[in-house]
Amino acid sequence: MVDFDKIIDFHGHLGPYLVLGYRAGELALEKLSAERHFGIEVTVHCPENPPPRCFIDGIQLSTGATFGKNNLFHQTAPELSAFFTNKKTGKSIEIQLTDSIKKQFIPRIGPELEAFARKVAAQPVEEVFIIKEVL
Ligand SMILES: [Zn+2]
Repeated sequence: MVDFDKIIDFHGHLGPYLVLGYRAGELALEKLSAERHFGIEVTVHCPENPPPRCFIDGIQLSTGATFGKNNLFHQTAPELSAFFTNKKTGKSIEIQLTDSIKKQFIPRIGPELEAFARKVAAQPVEEVFIIKEVL
């Protein structure tokens, strides 16, 4: 469940990339049975600038992996994806966006943008993410 108040308080506004990052992080913790904060390491691939870069903040917030703890890394890439590793088991997954969700990203501002972010928060996981096991 996306805690909108928490993510807005942390990030300053509500946007779809933030929500996607938050959800991807939650999903990764669950799939890897990893512990928040210290039990997970994340490398986020995304463009250099916001708004796509807001994806990183969503991931930081849900996983508790942060730049300060040196378990969150960013690599510039044209597409959004994230690699998550359970630091205890060494198991990793990659999470990418589906074509279906990518097609929904058209420019929006203000209330329309927030409404879209809330819609993204409610969409079923399989419509939003592709989950790949990493060996
Ligand atoms: Zn943002």
